[in-house]
Formats: sequence, C-alpha cells, structure tokens
Amino acid sequence: MANIVGGCLCGALRYDAGTQTTFMGYCCCDDCQKASGSGFIPFVGLPPGALKVSGAYTMYQMHHADGRSSERFSCAKCASLVFGGEPGNPNGNTIYAGTLDDTSQFKPAMAIMTKFKPDWVLLPPGLKIFDGMPQ
Ligand SMILES: [Zn+2]
Repeated sequence: MANIVGGCLCGALRYDAGTQTTFMGYCCCDDCQKASGSGFIPFVGLPPGALKVSGAYTMYQMHHADGRSSERFSCAKCASLVFGGEPGNPNGNTIYAGTLDDTSQFKPAMAIMTKFKPDWVLLPPGLKIFDGMPQ
C-alpha cells in the first residue's frame, strides 16, 4: 500500500501517516454529525506515532459527561476538519477519510454509534454494525 497522505482543502495542512492503519469505518455519532455537517464521519485509525503533520492547525476539545474528552483538528486557514487526537497521542490518531489524496485507500469495515444514524445515511453492505462503541 502507498503511504497514507492527504490534507485540507487549501493545502496548508498536510499529513503523511505511513502505511499502517488500525481500523476504518463510519462513525455516526451526533458529535461527528455536528462537527462535519454531515451524517457521519469516515475515519481511518492510525497506530501511535504514525501521523506526521505539517502546517498550522486549530484544535477543538470536546469534554464529555463521563470525563472523556475528544480533540478534533482543523486547518488554521481553511477550517477543513482533518484529523482527531493530539499529534503524538499514545493511543494513536484518526484521520477523516475525505482528506485522503487517494480516497480509494479508505476500506471501511465497520459502522459505529449507529443509534444516532439519520435515515438518509445509507451504509454500504457488509459492514460490521455497532449500535454504540465497539468494545
Ligand atoms: Zn487549509
């Protein structure tokens, strides 16, 4: 597989994530809907240390009721949502599949948080479906 490379709409924020991914799928949670202005976010999971970023970004941190937080990163110039998790995060990162230079590298295997999925989001056949978060 070629390196997983991509970036934002204006080109100022770019990443190279090597060749290893951990999981790929659709997240249909209500936070992803609001953050993206869409019905879901297509995510590509990366192992710790894989994500190398260049360019300026802004971070939005969301605090959840259960004490967790999530961090979403956007281009500082054009505001495209590009990746999740602080660069260097020991738990790895996610990138949002629409930012891939070659979007055919996205091979979704699961859909998560489908209890929030709007009826107008049609999932492709063959995905493993999780009502909430997979364990
Ligand atoms: Zn940009």
